[in-house]
Amino acid sequence: MASAAQIADRRREDARFRLLELAKLGVVGAPKVVRRHEADITIHCAGKDPVAEDKQKALLSAIEIVVAAGHAITDLTVYLSDDANVQTIAFVGSTAGDREPTIFLGGKAGKTSCKAKGDQPVVIQGGIGAGGRERGIADQQYDGTAHWFGNPKRLALMEATMIHELGHVLHEQHDPSMFWDLKASVIPPAVAGSGWLNAALDVSQYATKGPLEFVAEVFTGRLLGKVYAATVDNAYAAANGP
Ligand SMILES: [Zn+2]
Repeated sequence: MASAAQIADRRREDARFRLLELAKLGVVGAPKVVRRHEADITIHCAGKDPVAEDKQKALLSAIEIVVAAGHAITDLTVYLSDDANVQTIAFVGSTAGDREPTIFLGGKAGKTSCKAKGDQPVVIQGGIGAGGRERGIADQQYDGTAHWFGNPKRLALMEATMIHELGHVLHEQHDPSMFWDLKASVIPPAVAGSGWLNAALDVSQYATKGPLEFVAEVFTGRLLGKVYAATVDNAYAAANGP
């Protein structure tokens, strides 16, 4: 179990990686602050992101879904970029060792991970991604959305991606000790013995990456109406998911 000092250390380390990500952005425009459920959502757009509008729409709708499920949203900073080198990732730590939730939506945030050929029969829920890119709940949402006007498939994918990233932020708020242990690959026995990896096969390929991704993927799936088997629910509870 991570001590308070270890939690602070890991948050500071997380903040250093956030600064590395920030350095990739180049010129960042003046932020737009949107107030939602008593929280300030500060949105920065780096360069010219052609899908920035959709990303903001997906972000705000993801926040509504998360709040409707009974979770509290805190102040949040979001960076949008169409640069493929900018990751889609959540950072939670601050340089002072406390909490500073920041989400980056990089160049791949609106693109689905295509299914690998020959992926039959389905061994992992949602299929396996081509070219080493794991498929997640976001890809399942993309697959399951009909294409009418505009780009609803892309919007559904972005919305799920945002819920996933908010899931990481909420997991850290819910149980910082558990979150930072898992982040440092210190797997508590309860999680190691929970069967999470086997359960992950019923969630998504991305969920198999590690217990933190498993939690964020189950969180996303549940909020989007998916119902999982008890094996999944038990493993989620063992990792103290939000
Ligand atoms: Zn994740």
